[in-house]
Amino acid sequence: MPDIIQLLPDGIANQIAAGEVIQRPASVIKELMENAIDAGASAIKIIIKDAGKTSVQVVDDGKGMSQTDARMSFERHATSKIRSANDLFCIKTMGFRGEALASIAAISHVEMITRQINEDIGNRILIEGTVIMKQDMVQAMPGTSITIKNLFYNVPARRKFLKSDPVELKHILDEFHRVVLANPDVHFTLHHNGNELYHLPKSNLKQRIIGVLGKQINDKLIPVNEDTEVATFSGFIGKAETSRKTQGDQYIFVNKRFIRSNYLNHAVRAAYEDLITKDVFPTYFLFLEIDPANIDINVHPTKTEIKFEDERLIYNYLRVSLKHSLGQYSLSPMLDFNTDHNFAYKFSGDPNIVSSDLVSKKVTSSYPLENEATFRPGQESSKGWEQIYQGLQEIKIPDTDHDVVNTVESEAFQLTIDESETRSLFSTREPYQLHNTYIIHQLKTGMMIIDQQAAHERVLYEFYLGALQNGELFSQKELFPHTIELDQAQAIVLKKILSSVNALGFEMEEFGQNTFIVHGTPSGLDSSVSIEVIVQKLISQYLQNLEFELGIEDNLARSMAYSASIKRGKRLEKEEMTRLIDQLFGCGMPYKSPSGKKCYVSLELDELAKRFNH
Ligand code: ADP
Ligand code: MG
Repeated sequence: MPDIIQLLPDGIANQIAAGEVIQRPASVIKELMENAIDAGASAIKIIIKDAGKTSVQVVDDGKGMSQTDARMSFERHATSKIRSANDLFCIKTMGFRGEALASIAAISHVEMITRQINEDIGNRILIEGTVIMKQDMVQAMPGTSITIKNLFYNVPARRKFLKSDPVELKHILDEFHRVVLANPDVHFTLHHNGNELYHLPKSNLKQRIIGVLGKQINDKLIPVNEDTEVATFSGFIGKAETSRKTQGDQYIFVNKRFIRSNYLNHAVRAAYEDLITKDVFPTYFLFLEIDPANIDINVHPTKTEIKFEDERLIYNYLRVSLKHSLGQYSLSPMLDFNTDHNFAYKFSGDPNIVSSDLVSKKVTSSYPLENEATFRPGQESSKGWEQIYQGLQEIKIPDTDHDVVNTVESEAFQLTIDESETRSLFSTREPYQLHNTYIIHQLKTGMMIIDQQAAHERVLYEFYLGALQNGELFSQKELFPHTIELDQAQAIVLKKILSSVNALGFEMEEFGQNTFIVHGTPSGLDSSVSIEVIVQKLISQYLQNLEFELGIEDNLARSMAYSASIKRGKRLEKEEMTRLIDQLFGCGMPYKSPSGKKCYVSLELDELAKRFNH
């Protein structure tokens, strides 16, 4: 029998490699953007036609290539980024496999123009399906411009497999977002069919996130900054309210490389605990810096999967770092994280009075974080971390990397899951008030203890915010309009914000010096408290909240919720308790009051049984 094994010609080998690395126009964008980053570019311009099906051009101002390198760069396994196997353990660049350009050139028409800064003239190379058609000298700016036309022109099956333009464009934008978020210090622009879709000047991470996601995310980001023995964690996580029903803005980068890891996504979810329900996805932009020697990026051709030396440890540290950030936020949710997160905070006995001291640099909390009383954010890290870690030993960690995203087992009360499930958990027993402060309510699985003031604040906050945002008025006419008198300072403030205050359901107008006439009040106010007192409290709370720059609607909703809420110490009738429980669990965020106090805690029957040594 004759020998039948042959080496494949380069062109075919490259086409096969391309099958793995280049799946669609978006993969071209990713590879070319990463090459530009690796070349040290400070500005990268991307020009796309027809979702990349007609052409993709990436122009950078990076270091460019010599004439020989320009030709070499299209050879398979041609890279300037590693030289020996050892280099695989200290990779700092995005690329290193030397197959992107070879793959792209095998399945498209390529024009590359490149010039090194110290050369007067640039080089141009034209390639069609691996074959160099032309190489010559041209005038060019320093840097590199690569244009890819007619992708998959010689692989009809692939070309047919491409989806509609909007779908392909969506894939492109996904890749674009990952690269731009990881490189906020680089200026990016993206044009599609002549329209500029993105113009992202060099900035910091927060501005870059806003550039990508829009301004509405601005005050919803909580900073993360922890330095641990296994990794440095930084970036931002979204407040609970940024969670969405669909998967979208979940980014984890390891050494600036976007990676997919169900396992680490699970760690993030676990950090939110009962702050979000099971069916929503939190928003996050997390950056892990890990010694390249402790990871293996070379497990997948597109390099979006990584092997960690000790994944469990990273899981733990990540979870605790985020819990720490979320904990700081929920202790003092009204602090402005935009300016400086190295704040100090103290809590007074009253949940609504959060006094902040933004001057001090060191975190000096004297308020224990739940279950982590020993954890002081300001302590030097090694000791602090040991202490936190002790508490972690018992945490259940899923063993596999698969399908863990939706299986978060919160030790917290299952009521956080969904409302229909919630209902079936309630029993019909009447609630009971303890010390005129807590409501005890029996559940099928145990009991819950509700803090009446925190719960009512939550209910009122959502109610008033809704009224302000949707312009729905819930006003109750006064049978006999009466006047209220304020001190001069308060009167000045009220005059200024009168129309917004009236949007809460008041009907007030100026009536002489410091006097206002009240024709109507928001319905449902506690009739035992005088309107004068409520308005006075509202204004003083509004003034206190000003320092947190919440925006007038949020501020007024919080202030009004605080002023009008049922206070601890007030006796409640059974119906009032039942109504409050119903209202609380009709809220979008029943877990915490707007000022960050827990609205309820729960006790499971088996926990009770354990305590009684049953
Ligand atoms: P890799 O990035 O894995 O090294 P590529 O095929 O993407 O492989 O690129 C091959 C080589 O071409 C790179 O190692 C680099 O030296 C060079 N190169 C590619 N793109 C650029 C660019 N935009 N600017 C400068 N050099 C580049
Ligand atoms: Mg590359």
